[in-house]
Amino acid sequence: MTRPRSENYYEARGFSVYYLANAVFNIVSRPGVYIRGIEEILGDMRALTLMRPFHKYTNLHEFIREISTDIVTEEVEQEDGEYRFLREFFRTYNVVCPASALENEDAFWQFTSDSDRFHRAIDELTEEVFHVLFNDVGFLQNFNRLCAGYIEGSGFGEERKTQRGTLKRVPIPAWARRAIFYRDKGGCRSCKRSLAALINQLETERYDHIVPLARFGANDITNLQLLCEPCNLKKSATHLPVSMLYQRAIRP
Ligand SMILES: [Zn+2]
Repeated sequence: MTRPRSENYYEARGFSVYYLANAVFNIVSRPGVYIRGIEEILGDMRALTLMRPFHKYTNLHEFIREISTDIVTEEVEQEDGEYRFLREFFRTYNVVCPASALENEDAFWQFTSDSDRFHRAIDELTEEVFHVLFNDVGFLQNFNRLCAGYIEGSGFGEERKTQRGTLKRVPIPAWARRAIFYRDKGGCRSCKRSLAALINQLETERYDHIVPLARFGANDITNLQLLCEPCNLKKSATHLPVSMLYQRAIRP
């Protein structure tokens, strides 16, 4: 009986949602290193997208989609030959790709422009990576700070802005409040106190902008967290950073 060839851990770099989530996490944590790509995704006219109030396809979806497409197709631009990562992506998401599409870059881009399945696969991947990152409020704070820099620097979108250039406050839609309430498990994100018994989950004052509107934060669900009233007051008084702790999945 032949044993399967064992691989070293460092070779285990095949395709996975966590690989992509980790890549997006690193890009957002160390934006200076990757600034050119980020400029293309968030800069200039694209900043108008960041200013849309409470879109269900969030700013983070847009960002993940662009980065994921770049990473998934990176081997094609490098004319790698094996396309190990790309083939695993195709296999995982049931994308049928003819061998001829991997012969050269032009053939590949022609394939992607004709293939609905390719684009739906990227959409599914984006949703999955979003799901991983949406729970990490420390990451979301970094992401929204990055977005805030582009909102502040953009000369567009005057009708959405105050005279100071910050975004106007808009009502938080019920779907967004519900999603945050469930993500934060009905508890204050900072002190973990349960708010479920105290409040009607649709009371808007418990929904805090992680990067405040006054600091060019966006009206995006990825920029919201549940905070109790004392923590909210403390945060506005001291610019308290968000809690880096994950919510416990099961309360003791
Ligand atoms: Zn609290």
